Amino acid sequence: MLDVRRVGRILWRGVRLRCLRCGAGPLFRGPFRMHVECLVCDLTFEREQGYFVGAIYINYGATALLLVAGFFALERFTDISVTQQLLLWGAFAIVLPLGFFRHSRSLWMSLDYIVNPADGPPPPGTARGS
Ligand SMILES: [Zn+2]
Repeated sequence: MLDVRRVGRILWRGVRLRCLRCGAGPLFRGPFRMHVECLVCDLTFEREQGYFVGAIYINYGATALLLVAGFFALERFTDISVTQQLLLWGAFAIVLPLGFFRHSRSLWMSLDYIVNPADGPPPPGTARGS
């Protein structure tokens, strides 16, 4: 049975870019570099080679959805030309995936961790922040 509180806690940790198990360790050590494992509870972040391909799908899907919706919204409610739209959304298609990179990975990890925790509870003495 789905534990809504557990799912909410894991997603919140993902939004905060924190370890999904303990909620304390940061996922990233730089703008585009992840820690191999949690600094607090040793949860391995990249479970297998190619693990983050799902994050690429999430990033691409979010970008495409916002781009298409934004294009048609501007087409409907403004008078800007198609050329201006192409320039705007072309830039958007470059900037958004870069800005969403970290959260697409954490969202992918969160979804995977909800479905398949594949580990036990955090070791004693680690933070349980949410
Ligand atoms: Zn952790």
